[in-house]
Amino acid sequence: MKAAVWYGRRDVRIEERAEPEALPGHVVVRVAWAGICGTDRHEYLGPNFIPLTKPHRLTGCTAPLILGHEFTGLIHKIGQGLGSSWRIGDRVTANGTLCCGTCAMCRSGQYNICEKLGFTGVSRDGAFAEYVAVEAERLFRVPDALTLRQAVLAEPLACGIHAVRLLGGLQGKDAVIIGPGIIGLSCFFAAKRSGARRLLAAGIAGPRRGLVEAQGGWYCDCEQEDLGQAARACFGGLADAVFECAGSQAALNSAAAVLKGGGDLMVMGVYEQPPVFPMNGFQEGERRLFTSQAHQDEIGAALDYLKSGDLDPDALITGEVTLDTLVDQGFEELAANAGKHIKIVIRIGGDL
Ligand SMILES: [Zn+2]
Ligand SMILES: [Zn+2]
Repeated sequence: MKAAVWYGRRDVRIEERAEPEALPGHVVVRVAWAGICGTDRHEYLGPNFIPLTKPHRLTGCTAPLILGHEFTGLIHKIGQGLGSSWRIGDRVTANGTLCCGTCAMCRSGQYNICEKLGFTGVSRDGAFAEYVAVEAERLFRVPDALTLRQAVLAEPLACGIHAVRLLGGLQGKDAVIIGPGIIGLSCFFAAKRSGARRLLAAGIAGPRRGLVEAQGGWYCDCEQEDLGQAARACFGGLADAVFECAGSQAALNSAAAVLKGGGDLMVMGVYEQPPVFPMNGFQEGERRLFTSQAHQDEIGAALDYLKSGDLDPDALITGEVTLDTLVDQGFEELAANAGKHIKIVIRIGGDL
């Protein structure tokens, strides 16, 4: 089968690989569509999490590895021990989390923060290929109302739903979202759905403003406007909650500055440099710091959201590539023009 294999930074090769086997408890999915995630972009440009020399603590794998964890497709092979719950041809997507199943976190249901946490496409071969093997436990059925192309968005949207669930209590609150890429937007949509009162997204010019405004949010173009002023204009004061989804020192400083005393900061950005945290002001105001890691079973809620018609999934897809054009028109395009894109999808089998 054809696959996009990561060898190192800026070294992704399109190669022939053997089709995966359906181990007990697993299925093999024929991949229809995949999505390029922010983490895939990080693997391409750094900092990368794919183990180069030291085998991964859970899977024992090292590079070269097939990238990709956002995907949809049809069940192609079914491993032993799965009874009749899944059939060949079922339309599915999956959670790429890999966990040990035995640590305290896994036993409490928080398998997304397993001690040996891994991820499909980072710690084991992933979905930027014609076929991918996944644990049946992590599968979700794609509703008939959604195309397989639209359902690729469920995984990134689940990240925001999980973060909003961890924060809790956004009903009637005002929130700022810094860095409205797909993860920031997923927080925006999830906060809106959970009853937040006013939402202000802060980022650069590009396709996000229209999307946010169409959904009743405000948008601050940080190259033109001061975020604190925009928040005062929008809320009449500071924010009850801030989602920091950019992963930069400047974004972290803005996040802390725009947050009310007693407010909640949710950090989801991945930092290329270790940030300095403005702790004294933060402590003085009894502000609270939260973090969120991927999601648990929120892909189901994300599929329901996509199906509800409350947002237009196609408007989030700003580019389409194939495995053959993935490097030049996917990764290199994102490296050069990240601000122009929300989600680039990869047509692998297409609408099967
Ligand atoms: Zn993702
Ligand atoms: Zn575990």
